[in-house]
Amino acid sequence: MLGAIGGHAAPILLGAIGGHAAPILKKEAMDKIAAPRGTADLIPPESARWQDLEARLRVVARRFGYGEIRTPLFESTELFVRGVGETTDIVEKEMYTFEDKGGRRMTLRPEWTAPVVRAVLEHNLLANGPQRLYYLGPIFRYERPQAGRYRQSHQFGVECFGFEGPEADVEVISLASDVIGSCGLEVTLSINSIGDEVCRPRYREALFAHFAPHKDALSPDSQRRLERNPLRILDSKAPQDRALVESAPTMLDVLCEPCAAHFARVRHLLDAIGVAYVVDPRIVRGLDYYTRTVFEFQSSDLGAQATVCAGGRYDGLIAALGGPPTPGVGFALGIERFLMIVERRGSAAALPQAGIAVITLGAAARERVVPLVAALRRSSDGVPVTIDYNDAKIAAQFKRAERANARVALILGDDELASQTIVVRDLVTRVQDTLEARGDDAAIAERVLAWYRALGPANGAAA
Ligand code: ATP
Ligand code: MG
Repeated sequence: MLGAIGGHAAPILLGAIGGHAAPILKKEAMDKIAAPRGTADLIPPESARWQDLEARLRVVARRFGYGEIRTPLFESTELFVRGVGETTDIVEKEMYTFEDKGGRRMTLRPEWTAPVVRAVLEHNLLANGPQRLYYLGPIFRYERPQAGRYRQSHQFGVECFGFEGPEADVEVISLASDVIGSCGLEVTLSINSIGDEVCRPRYREALFAHFAPHKDALSPDSQRRLERNPLRILDSKAPQDRALVESAPTMLDVLCEPCAAHFARVRHLLDAIGVAYVVDPRIVRGLDYYTRTVFEFQSSDLGAQATVCAGGRYDGLIAALGGPPTPGVGFALGIERFLMIVERRGSAAALPQAGIAVITLGAAARERVVPLVAALRRSSDGVPVTIDYNDAKIAAQFKRAERANARVALILGDDELASQTIVVRDLVTRVQDTLEARGDDAAIAERVLAWYRALGPANGAAA
């Protein structure tokens, strides 16, 4: 069974390194090496937007009482086969699987839920009662790269273990909703129930009966899914499947009584806390272990890759991974897609002009300024202090300060050295001042920083 995992589609990442690779390296050493397809470097100022979003996500998670979990970037392949499901896109074709030097089959984390459950069981956390955890970090999937779909992407998500009732479903949905709302984004929340082990088999049969007579008209992927997992056909994005998917029976028609009651409570509680949603019977989720509630947040700004956040209940997963039967519910939010919406909506706040750029004229000033910069950085409390060590013309140094998005320039030349002063200049208003620069550097630094702070925030944002 293991041999079939990932098939030949999943590249062997590490296997190619070493051995006869050396002579090839010699010839290609002159060529530039690009980042692998479907990956991206994160560089300033974009990385500041990521940090800003990550900070917001952590604040909301903490507010809901979720603690952070970090798991290894790679795990036993078997974990994902059992924890994600053999008939899923992830396991069938998207995993980065390799054999390590000890001959073990390993897979780069393609999703977080299975590793989180693995860790929860390994550390016996469930013995302490229900657990609320959040995660933030990269996932790896061998996909065809396009806008909103990458081979290395990043997810924020939460997992809530140990509550069977609909309150937990609503808690994680409202956490996701708060995260999205805190960035001022408008998205649509769609919810559905996919039943449990009592009613879902009936639904599989009903779906099979619906699709089987039209098998030849289905996309090749969906033809394969028909025998193995007809629910996955509902998730199909192939245009030729659309009409048959539209006319398929819905799970909501065949829910058993407890599942129907659970779903009704979820809807009632969402109404009670004022989270808007639509019921969409086509939402099924790609992963095999989901039960009952499933949901997605979609944005009309994302085109084909409309889903920014997806999740649901997975009451069977923990037992499937060898733990005590324990209910669970969670979601995963795609950071790249989230930031794409932020950008398209134009709701990305301009980065505030912040920090002090030190400008020196002449060798004496450059020598004097090193301890002063050190003192500034020691007491700056987060205010960035930058300096150009090259002997550049003053205009060039001002240009660089502007490019660094600095708020204040601190200028030191021969005149200032002679009079034991420094000039500070607000790069927003062009107002400038001469400060006394006698005494020890810590005191001078305090004077400069006090002047800086008195300016208040630029662009109306916190400095
Ligand atoms: P899709 O149907 O778009 O392939 P999925 O069902 O594979 O999504 P999940 O496994 O539920 O997605 O992942 C949750 C979220 O993570 C997605 O809604 C999306 O925002 C993000 N995501 C998943 N795969 C990628 C990827 N390859 N590149 C960028 N973001 C991704
Ligand atoms: Mg996918």
